[in-house]
Amino acid sequence: MRETEQRAAKAFTEQFGETPELVASAPGRINLIGEHTDYNGGFVLPCAIDRRIAVAMGAGEGGLYSADFDETREPGGKDDSWADYPRGVVWAMGEEGHEIGSFQAAFAGDVPLGSGLSSSAAIEAATALALDSLFGLGIDRKDLAVLCQRAENDFLGVASGIMDQYASLLCEAGAALLVDCRSLEARSVPLDLPAAGLSLVICDTRVERGLADTGYNDRRSTCESAAGTLGIEHLRDATEDDLKRLSGEQLRRARHVVSENARVLEAVEALNNGDFDHFGKLMYTSHASLRDDYEVSTPELDTFVETARRHGARGARLTGAGFGGCAIALVPESQADRVERACKRDFAEADFGKPAFYEFVPAAGAELARSSGA
Ligand code: ADP
Ligand code: MG
Repeated sequence: MRETEQRAAKAFTEQFGETPELVASAPGRINLIGEHTDYNGGFVLPCAIDRRIAVAMGAGEGGLYSADFDETREPGGKDDSWADYPRGVVWAMGEEGHEIGSFQAAFAGDVPLGSGLSSSAAIEAATALALDSLFGLGIDRKDLAVLCQRAENDFLGVASGIMDQYASLLCEAGAALLVDCRSLEARSVPLDLPAAGLSLVICDTRVERGLADTGYNDRRSTCESAAGTLGIEHLRDATEDDLKRLSGEQLRRARHVVSENARVLEAVEALNNGDFDHFGKLMYTSHASLRDDYEVSTPELDTFVETARRHGARGARLTGAGFGGCAIALVPESQADRVERACKRDFAEADFGKPAFYEFVPAAGAELARSSGA
């Protein structure tokens, strides 16, 4: 078992005085390319990171315990705590008519919280997989992801697309996941970074995403009105030609969506061909489009991208909704330290806050580490 899985199992035994029936874990994710395309019915290309949240579970009345917060919460109700995530999954399963009996669970994880790496999807996905196994529900992974999204949207009240839950439940090690956000089809795309001598560096700018909500809603409604102007349901169906019929803000936002969707498909082709040079270029173009047309970048995110470029990155871009949060760079393994050092220096010089860095390899999606009876 992985370290987080062992921690969850140990916490379970210490809290509830017995060994868990099963242990499951699920990863956080980054989005490689395809930003603000999900709610436009388009494509995204996330990949799971090797940071996970694990849950140890068994029948019983001991409640929900978090090793990271060191506290126990009731399995029912809602109290704006971490426990609302597993509760939300139970609620969503109930809404779908699944019988969830009483259970007790212990959680432990190492996905950075609230950084945009989707620790929320990780805890939902781990819970869903564990409950599915404990109660023998036989729900397939895509449906588990949809249940988790429902928990996040309707129980937690966070408007979000399907990407995070899909990535956490469906990603495979050494691969990214192409998701069609309209049909909900998904397939793996090879991403063997170690073989190419490359690694991905995540820079968490730690900029509070203060304007994130209004900015996000703003972008969404402009996209909707642009689609309305064009007489289509989703901007995904807009063509380059259609753009000529738009102007001002509608044009800029739509131009990003149309070009970004095309970039995702081009990126998939590049990865299928092992062409990381081209893939990297698409990352840079994506960033420029998010900065200039979609206007969701910040000086910190731009600085990281430019510093990474100067220090040998093949590609770099903001990842997530923008307005702060994280950026990623695809760098030769031997350069990763240099990029991080240079970025710290440039941030200090510009008087920005201290960034945090994570290096990672594309990891496996949710897994049952130990099934009941084992
Ligand atoms: P993000 O998904 O970007 O990390 P969110 O605000 O959506 O940020 O979700 C973060 C929340 O998920 C935390 O505030 C906490 O409630 C829950 N969470 C994350 N990691 C853990 C953990 N290791 N144990 C329990 N709850 C966690
Ligand atoms: Mg989240």
